[in-house]
Amino acid sequence: MPETVTAGLDTTSDAGLLELITTEDPAQEEALFAEARRLRAEHYGSGVYFRGLIEFSNYCKNDCYYCGIRRSNARAERYRLGPDEILNCCRMGDLLGYKTFVLQSGEDPWFTDDRVVEILAAIRREFPDHAITLSIGEKSRESYERFFHAGANRYLLRHETADDAHYRLLHPASMDLAERKQCLFNLKKIGYQVGAGFMVGTPFQKPEHLLEDLCFIRELRPHMVGIGPFIPQKDTPFGAYPPGSLELTLRMVALARLILPSALIPATTALGTLSPQGREKGLMAGANVVMPNLSPKAVRKLYSLYDNKICTGDEAAECRLCMEGRIRDFGFEPDMSRGDWAAGSRAAN
Ligand code: SAH
Repeated sequence: MPETVTAGLDTTSDAGLLELITTEDPAQEEALFAEARRLRAEHYGSGVYFRGLIEFSNYCKNDCYYCGIRRSNARAERYRLGPDEILNCCRMGDLLGYKTFVLQSGEDPWFTDDRVVEILAAIRREFPDHAITLSIGEKSRESYERFFHAGANRYLLRHETADDAHYRLLHPASMDLAERKQCLFNLKKIGYQVGAGFMVGTPFQKPEHLLEDLCFIRELRPHMVGIGPFIPQKDTPFGAYPPGSLELTLRMVALARLILPSALIPATTALGTLSPQGREKGLMAGANVVMPNLSPKAVRKLYSLYDNKICTGDEAAECRLCMEGRIRDFGFEPDMSRGDWAAGSRAAN
């Protein structure tokens, strides 16, 4: 179904989208957020899905200039959780009521495909009805297929920026945007619920790049879209750059909702780090997912993609309760169900 011009918000043309990306008119911004909330309510009511996030390794073979766990950051203290520790995090998550586990890490070569498959199978054996989400970077189509058949249901792989020249300013020459995009199309074809996404306010980013991000989202039609502000990490090449803007990030969240009305859109930890009520504002701009941390407290601080990350001192149970309270304060309802993408809508396929 073609998108239409609603509430004076033109998301059908590049010029209309650029105007909404860059607007400084509070009335237009509020109209954008209101429309995003309306669409989100139409597809998901007032519920907010909870996903338990397990950051299981900060070893990474990549060297993204923005990221605190990049290979060249000798100051990053490295850790990895073993298969039993990962399984224990899932058990804790299950006790706390989570029905989705998100396993995220740097691209850590220790986790060979065989090991990943073993871990997936063990989680699947013990939790046959839970959703398992992987976020472990770029792999071959064959690897993605193996993970899928071992029990993974969803995969998060932000494209980071959809503009080729901009991508090359954020990554070393060994990394390639076309390959990353191909991974996303492969994942979708295999049958995963797929999450793409991008950072807002990375160095050298122009409004036109954000327009390309929206156009890519419209083309790929992912089930999930992760959008967060860039936040500098002091031991990276971008350590001295300013963080992304809260307002611009919120507008991008709302625009993602307008473009893919039934997408699952998280209010990200980076949003909460940028501003004390950043995640709540994300929900008010159309987001409908939160991802509280399930990683053991001892390693939380070490998964430092950016500086001053929130919730690194809390236990998993505290994170859940804190998020619940915050959500209710803003009129939303915590939803601990699996929260699969709602079929039959305009978002995907
Ligand atoms: N290795 C996995 C997981 C990457 S970490 C993968 O390649 O997908 C998850 C996300 O954190 C990244 O996709 C990136 O968008 C975000 N991130 C990394 N560094 C960041 C920073 N300095 N500020 C904000 N977000 C950052």
